[in-house]
Amino acid sequence: MEFIPVIGLEVHAQLNTRTKIFCGCSTKFGAPPNTHTCPICLGMPGTLPVLNKKVVDYTIKMALATNCTVQEKSVFARKNYFYPDIPKGYQISQYELPIALKGHLDIDVEGKSLRIGITRIHMEEDAGKLIHDPDHPVSRVDLNRAGMPLMEIVSEPDIPTPEAAGAYLRELRAILRYLNISDGNMEEGSFRCDANVSIMPVGSTVFGTRAEIKNLNSFKHVEKALHYEIARQKAVLRDGGHLVQETRLWNPDKGVTLSMRGKEDADDYRYFPDPDLVPLVIDTAWIDRMHQEMPELPAQRRFRYTERLGLTPEDARTLTASRELSDYFEATVARFDRPKMAANWIMGDLLGLLNARGLEVDQSPITPDHLAGLLELLETDVISGKIAKTLFETMAETGKSAKILVEEKGLIQVSDTSTLDPVVDAVIADHPDEVSRYRSGQKKLMGFFVGEVMKATRGKANPKIVNEQLTKKLESSPLN
Ligand code: ADP
Ligand code: MG
Ligand code: ZN
Repeated sequence: MEFIPVIGLEVHAQLNTRTKIFCGCSTKFGAPPNTHTCPICLGMPGTLPVLNKKVVDYTIKMALATNCTVQEKSVFARKNYFYPDIPKGYQISQYELPIALKGHLDIDVEGKSLRIGITRIHMEEDAGKLIHDPDHPVSRVDLNRAGMPLMEIVSEPDIPTPEAAGAYLRELRAILRYLNISDGNMEEGSFRCDANVSIMPVGSTVFGTRAEIKNLNSFKHVEKALHYEIARQKAVLRDGGHLVQETRLWNPDKGVTLSMRGKEDADDYRYFPDPDLVPLVIDTAWIDRMHQEMPELPAQRRFRYTERLGLTPEDARTLTASRELSDYFEATVARFDRPKMAANWIMGDLLGLLNARGLEVDQSPITPDHLAGLLELLETDVISGKIAKTLFETMAETGKSAKILVEEKGLIQVSDTSTLDPVVDAVIADHPDEVSRYRSGQKKLMGFFVGEVMKATRGKANPKIVNEQLTKKLESSPLN
């Protein structure tokens, strides 16, 4: 029997607000343990949470960017569980009435567009972090992370392959970054993904039993873990076994998923509306305001790049993959109006350079302005293509503009007298009037002759040499 995979993803994105979701504690990363805490996020009895409005702003923007409907009324709920990382004994989340429902995201998989449904988006607080000391039989808890603002984005089980899962995650992350609401860093845990996967016989419409995979901390690992898990489930069914709904942990060293625990049902959490927080009401004016603040999103940019700037879909995809790269391209074409040429240099030379040096786009030693300046010199034939490539390297090393470097290094200048001689001779032969006026004392005409030679060599002649040659030839006897 042939099987096809069914994948649904739950993504937690940490929002980059200045303070936590229900108190005024800082969200800054890397502080000493338990220094970014207060009675509220420590779960002291008698304290009351106050919702951070920025968290709502950000979530509304994400909802709009993923075509979800923002709900007029949503409710915070307590998800009860007992564990030392959650001092209150419950996590404040949203359950029956989340802030946004029913959206979708179009992704591109191997050149084909695929629409992935988004079930819901909700807001919640993060839990603390347990630190298990390898040298002592103790575990410690750091509550700096408790109460950090999270947004959970749940997809429909619409994702057909591990690669499509990767594409979906990359698009989500790109949107978060374009919106500037989360840094989307998977390695550092500000973008976390649980992958649900099941398989069913080809032609079936009944979903199989799903496993939820945790501990996925890079896009590559998500894809690898899904491939492994799909193969594992197929093997179990083909051997006549049966699957149980469970949570499995990805082990990146061994490249396998291992059963962690049977999956809890929602009932186990005893969800109920949090009596400490009033229902959240969002009016259309609020949504409109967020709408106004939306930047151009990756999909819109891709469309503009292909339709208006004449780039290929692949180029548009590469350039918009990160906001930083796309902004770099934008800044370059703002000064140099040949998008295709700019795109080629950015995707080829610039990315190559950054890769070789292990730099991010926003650390580029060559500014968009300087790249535009270089392309301008190349486009107007001031420098050759070959010189442009070397100049590019020199610009990266020195941080100087192409124009300055050309002047400093005389890269375009022709100083070779045997090349300049015929040009100088031609200028003299073409201007007999000026020659006789010069020779009868109008020495100021030297500037005119130099100018003519410069014109004839498109600015490449070395003016000092030209001056010397002109002087020599003009001062010599007219009969020569
Ligand atoms: P839970 O908290 O129990 O994991 P959620 O509703 O938060 O439930 O998430 C369920 C996720 O699992 C969704 O992304 C959904 O698309 C996905 N999913 C549900 N059923 C299946 C299935 N049979 N196979 C694969 N994914 C599934
Ligand atoms: Mg889940
Ligand atoms: Zn606090």
